[in-house]
Amino acid sequence: MSRRFDAIVIGTGQAGPYLTGRLAGAGMKVAVVERKRFGGTCVNNGCIPTKTMVASAYAAHLARRAAEYGVVVPEVRVDMAHVKARKDAILAKSRDGLESWLKGMENCTVYQGHACFEGPHEVSVGEERLEAERIFINVGGRAAVPPIPGIDSISYLNNSSMMEVDYLPRHLIVVGGSYIGLEFGQMFRRFGSEVTILEMGPRLIPREDEDVSAAVREILEAEGIGVRVNAKCIAFSRQGEDIAAKVECGEGAPTVTGSHVLLGTGRRPNTDDLGLEKAGVAMDPRGYIAVDDELRTSVSGVWAMGDCNGKGAFTHTSYNDAEIVAANLLERDRRRVSDRITAYNLYIDPPLGRAGMTEAEVRKSGRKALMATRPMTKVGRAVEKGEPQGFMKVLVDAETKHILGASILGVGGDEVIHSILDAMYAKAPYTVIQRAVHIHPTVSELVPTMLGELKEM
Ligand SMILES: Cc1cc2nc3c(=O)[nH]c(=O)nc-3n(C[C@H](O)[C@H](O)[C@H](O)COP(=O)(O)OP(=O)(O)OC[C@H]3O[C@@H](n4cnc5c(N)ncnc54)[C@H](O)[C@@H]3O)c2cc1C
Repeated sequence: MSRRFDAIVIGTGQAGPYLTGRLAGAGMKVAVVERKRFGGTCVNNGCIPTKTMVASAYAAHLARRAAEYGVVVPEVRVDMAHVKARKDAILAKSRDGLESWLKGMENCTVYQGHACFEGPHEVSVGEERLEAERIFINVGGRAAVPPIPGIDSISYLNNSSMMEVDYLPRHLIVVGGSYIGLEFGQMFRRFGSEVTILEMGPRLIPREDEDVSAAVREILEAEGIGVRVNAKCIAFSRQGEDIAAKVECGEGAPTVTGSHVLLGTGRRPNTDDLGLEKAGVAMDPRGYIAVDDELRTSVSGVWAMGDCNGKGAFTHTSYNDAEIVAANLLERDRRRVSDRITAYNLYIDPPLGRAGMTEAEVRKSGRKALMATRPMTKVGRAVEKGEPQGFMKVLVDAETKHILGASILGVGGDEVIHSILDAMYAKAPYTVIQRAVHIHPTVSELVPTMLGELKEM
């Protein structure tokens, strides 16, 4: 016998809980299914834990530099067990709060187990069968294991197992010079590990502009992190207690030997064990659930939100997916994924804030555009803080005066980017920010100045 609900939500990542609250609040009987830990990736092994660890790493870094500020710190020692305990306490609060909110919610029934489609509107959770006219999938993704020769002969870490590390790896080899790899790489260097980052492409964070990649590499290398790009033929083997990574880069030794390996090489959607074929829900060739601009799947009454639909790979995009679905269903307010502007941060220190198009994308589009840049050495606040690395760049459409994109690599860049992002959402000409009076002394105060220096690209 199936138990009937008005809606079933599969997964409690960043979209599921918000939508559950909205549907249950509207009087629907909702079943929520979670197979592992409430809060999903962001809470348990993504954003929250990594940012607590980045904060610990920053404290260690600043303590080592204390003398530059006239502060005497006799000895800097990182207690990895404490770093982990602090991280665990912060994420547990978030996870437990979410679990008790869902379990105490009126009209909401929580199932703990693996959900699998049995038909377009029927889901099994262990022995239980649930039915609903509306099903919302928020199953997220997991770390992908690349087919690197020798990978099965070594033990390696990924973003989940890294969360259990309460010791200092002597030499951490990070495979993947993109967002996850760089955050962990810098963090462990600051904790005291030797770190080598291996990137198959010709430069770090290849989605970003070349000048951004180069500046990020310079920041990391200045801290003693080894960076090996063009590492196209990585292969692992055991070398006593150590792990040898054959890299065959154009430059440097052909082999890097380390004590631990972290795979930061991308993620795959949790769609392979969801029974989607029994429901007839279509996927793309990479296993992402195909959705339209309002997140409807190929099956009427089934939606997919968050990382599993391939439309975003961030907490804010997943949460926004739930807002879009709720607005369309409950408020008849037509909201769409295509209303969203690409925006994200890279949380190395200093951080990179990104909004909209890169310079390369603007050039490729062929439109007439303007560009301005400013090094952080010319931003008083950054100099006063002793953190003058990085630069800011903004791109503007020459005809409409609308801002097309920005990269803010520098202290406070993760926050400063929002004034630009908001002007982009407002579809305001750049002159609105240029004429705004920003507060002194801040990094933001130089954004209007930079906009006053726009030049044709
Ligand atoms: C190391 C790291 C750092 C990150 N840092 C950031 C950051 O700083 N900022 C940012 O915006 N994003 C960051 N992200 C990305 C972010 O974590 C995800 O984009 C975000 O969690 C959105 O995920 P989601 O809602 O799609 O699903 P998830 O959070 O992945 O949750 C999916 C849930 O579904 C459950 N589930 C899966 N299959 C089933 C099933 N069949 N039955 C029942 N339950 C199921 C899972 O157990 C999980 O709880 C980071 C990711 C990583 C890995």
